[in-house]
Amino acid sequence: MTDLSQTVTEGFTSRFDASPTGLWSAPGRVNLIGEHTDYNDGFVFPFAINRRTVVGLGLRGDRLLRVASSFAEETVELPLDDLTPENLAGWSAYPLGVAWALGQFGADLSALPGFDVFIDSDVPIGAGLSSSAAIESAVAVALNDLWQLGLDRRVLARVGQLAENRAVGAPTGIMDQSASLLGEADSAVFLDCRSLDAEVIPLGFDVAGLELLIIDTRVSHAHSTGGYASRRASCELGARMLGVTSLRDLTVDDLARAQKVLDDETFRRVRHVVTENQRVQDTVRTLREQGPTAIGALLDASHVSMRDDFEISVPELDLAVETARGAGALGARMTGGGFGGAAIALTPRALIPAVTAAVTAAFAARGFAVPDLFVVRAADGAAREQ
Ligand code: ADP
Ligand code: MG
Repeated sequence: MTDLSQTVTEGFTSRFDASPTGLWSAPGRVNLIGEHTDYNDGFVFPFAINRRTVVGLGLRGDRLLRVASSFAEETVELPLDDLTPENLAGWSAYPLGVAWALGQFGADLSALPGFDVFIDSDVPIGAGLSSSAAIESAVAVALNDLWQLGLDRRVLARVGQLAENRAVGAPTGIMDQSASLLGEADSAVFLDCRSLDAEVIPLGFDVAGLELLIIDTRVSHAHSTGGYASRRASCELGARMLGVTSLRDLTVDDLARAQKVLDDETFRRVRHVVTENQRVQDTVRTLREQGPTAIGALLDASHVSMRDDFEISVPELDLAVETARGAGALGARMTGGGFGGAAIALTPRALIPAVTAAVTAAFAARGFAVPDLFVVRAADGAAREQ
């Protein structure tokens, strides 16, 4: 039994005075490449990581819902008959939002029993590794099993997304839930955000002796809402002026025409998205044809594009990337929405201590906050634990 399984069993017993019927878990995720491409109907390439959220769940004889987490002192209770997005707030909107969203995807909530849930996790919260998708996906697979809904994982990903969009109120895409539900060990999920086709691609990091180092700059991206909205608006403007439904419909061959039609800033926003879509596809092809040591240049190019064309980097992220590369990483880029958060560095295993020391020293020399560095491995997606 893993430590988390034990704390969840103990937490469930102490809060609810009973044993859970079963335990389920789902991982956080990191995006290897493909940034700000999701809402442009493009490609992303995330993988599930070896940090997980575990839920213990037991059905009840009545129609009450009770949720508790090691993360919060209170136990939240709500009758199933009162389950609407408007009645949900705070952290419990994630697990209860999933129960509501299952109803939108065919579960007959008027005929199902209530449940007790206890949650624990070692996915860092708010570090850009999607603790939110981990909690949603873990609850989704647990309820899918115990409510005997028979929904497949692609549908469960949409359930998690709907919960996040409507119950939590965060306008996120489907990347995080797809990685958390469809991921496999030492593999990443190549996701087409238009068709929602998902393909699991072996990474081969393990055999090649490579690790993915996360460099959490601890710069909060909480104030990035305006920047995010303005980037989305630029993408929509670019697509409209170029006469396409979304930037997905453009290729690098269209960029010369785009430059004649668009103002400089809009052109650079468009160029990031178009070239990033190409880089995601090139990463998948390079992995297949040459293996993971050959993808470093694509990671580097992705960072330059986000820094110079999309303008969503910050000095801490640029320093993390440059220092990691200088200390022997094969490639590095910021990951996530930008304006803070984490960078990733694809690094030969033997060089992890050197890269970690170099980045830590460089941050200290510039007077930046102490960064948090740790390795993540590509892991299996959501699963029943017991
Ligand atoms: P992240 O980048 O980690 O996904 P989000 O802001 O999207 O950050 O989601 C974090 C939120 O998800 C937390 O503030 C909390 O409300 C909820 N959450 C995540 N993990 C847990 C947990 N183990 N227990 C309770 N709530 C959780
Ligand atoms: Mg999140």
